[in-house]
Amino acid sequence: MRLTKQRKIILERLKQSRRHPTAVQIYDEVRSELPNISLGTVYRNLDILSKEGIISKIETCGDQKRFDGTSDPHLHIICSSCGKVQDAHQEPDIDMDRLTRGETDFKITGVRLELLGICPECNRENN
Ligand SMILES: [Zn+2]
Ligand SMILES: [Zn+2]
Repeated sequence: MRLTKQRKIILERLKQSRRHPTAVQIYDEVRSELPNISLGTVYRNLDILSKEGIISKIETCGDQKRFDGTSDPHLHIICSSCGKVQDAHQEPDIDMDRLTRGETDFKITGVRLELLGICPECNRENN
């Protein structure tokens, strides 16, 4: 894959960020360096980078997609109140056979697991 200047800057910004930004947040950040870039271009580049397995896309229910500057396997903990995403560096240890109990003819190739919770800030607000 050719790393265009735009793609390189998007990738660098994403790798520096620990907060799993949305495409819009990445767009806001790269505009200082790439004033003419469009949101559509940011989306397209993020899509290509995630298809190439360089970054990962986090599918959160209902919310906007978030992006992660690494594709190393790790768990995400998602705040169901504000959508904040945090890493949990524990490798999930999942017994696929037990999970499916032989109830599918699919050849299982992976599992996508997210932990949902309430982050400390939201928890404080609710109390
Ligand atoms: Zn929260
Ligand atoms: Zn992550």
